[in-house]
Amino acid sequence: MPVQPKEEPSPNTACQLPRTKRRFRFREYTVTPDTAPEAEPRVYAMQCGVCSKSGPTSTDAEKAHGWVAAHLHSQPGHLTYSEHVTLPYRAIPGRWL
Ligand SMILES: [Zn+2]
Repeated sequence: MPVQPKEEPSPNTACQLPRTKRRFRFREYTVTPDTAPEAEPRVYAMQCGVCSKSGPTSTDAEKAHGWVAAHLHSQPGHLTYSEHVTLPYRAIPGRWL
């Protein structure tokens, strides 16, 4: 007796949801530094250019810079540093296009 292969369900029969129309609109935005009182704070950190070690992050730039003096004390040959500053920004919605 010949064996009939089982019919597998069509992928289209599993999904019978109605299609919904979607409409998208574009909008202009201006990205600017966020100076609002509720904005995220500025964060500072210093990094050694020789060994890549970083000091602690701080919202106080002077505290972040203080790590350089401590690092120089333990590593007198490490004379180059980078400052990493994180600034909050805000996207302000503009007109619809
Ligand atoms: Zn170093």
